[in-house]
Amino acid sequence: MPRHVTMRVNTLKSDISHVKRCLDAASISYSDVPWYRDALVISGASEDDIRALDIYTYGKIYLQNLSSMLPPLLLEAKAEDCILDMAAAPGGKSAQIAALTDNQAQLTLCEKDKIRTERLKFNMARQGVRAYVMNADATKLSDMFSFDKILLDAPCSGSGTIRITDKGISGAFSDKLLSNSVKLQKALLTKALTLLKAGGRLVYSTCSVLPDENCGVLSSVLPRFNADVLPISMDRFEGVPLLPSEIDGTVTVCPNGLYEGFFVAVIAKRP
Ligand code: SAM
Repeated sequence: MPRHVTMRVNTLKSDISHVKRCLDAASISYSDVPWYRDALVISGASEDDIRALDIYTYGKIYLQNLSSMLPPLLLEAKAEDCILDMAAAPGGKSAQIAALTDNQAQLTLCEKDKIRTERLKFNMARQGVRAYVMNADATKLSDMFSFDKILLDAPCSGSGTIRITDKGISGAFSDKLLSNSVKLQKALLTKALTLLKAGGRLVYSTCSVLPDENCGVLSSVLPRFNADVLPISMDRFEGVPLLPSEIDGTVTVCPNGLYEGFFVAVIAKRP
């Protein structure tokens, strides 16, 4: 099933009315997303068609799957927050956090891969995001740092984004890939909970629907910290397709033509 093109309006540089006018002028059809004013679903145009528009070139919009817009919304970032995005490139969620706080939060972005860090810097500059970008292994960040809020959008097997029609799917997965992925996710979550201030909020997400990478990681790491899963109410996210999750209150998004398979959990560190 082909996946719809979806986008987020970058409110640091534009607004939904302006973007809709530009799409109308380019004869590109779109529809609203019930739970997010700044998101649009495009019909009859490809990602390349969108990339050819000035609103894309000037960072007024960002191509982003609807599932991946959930973590920044659930982070509930405020202007006064000191925030870490631990695995940030290419930066869709970082830019969304910046937009949601009108560039007022103190935002630190960490990315291990050098080339992806350059891409992250480019994307942040294009979208007018104010942030401090670090090229570093987040598992090795100094424990001297501390943050009010942390987004850990962890590297994963990508099981939620693979389509059955994808070529090479059979070679994409192995026990080794999964166990390496889980090991890294546990190390990153352990560091995230170490750096999170007491009373702070952490969002853990992956684009995988495999329980080992999601609830399995939470169940293994959370008992070592004074931290609890805060139940996510899906009432405000009308129409998001769900799969069962092993831990109540966490969300596993079911992949379909509009949504990538995805997992998200909100964690609070006790004061
Ligand atoms: N949050 C990003 C976004 O919305 O655009 C997507 C993040 S992607 C799922 C995971 C990223 O983590 C990759 O860019 C990968 O290079 C990076 N990464 C992997 N291991 C890391 C580590 N130890 N420290 C920091 N970043 C890491």
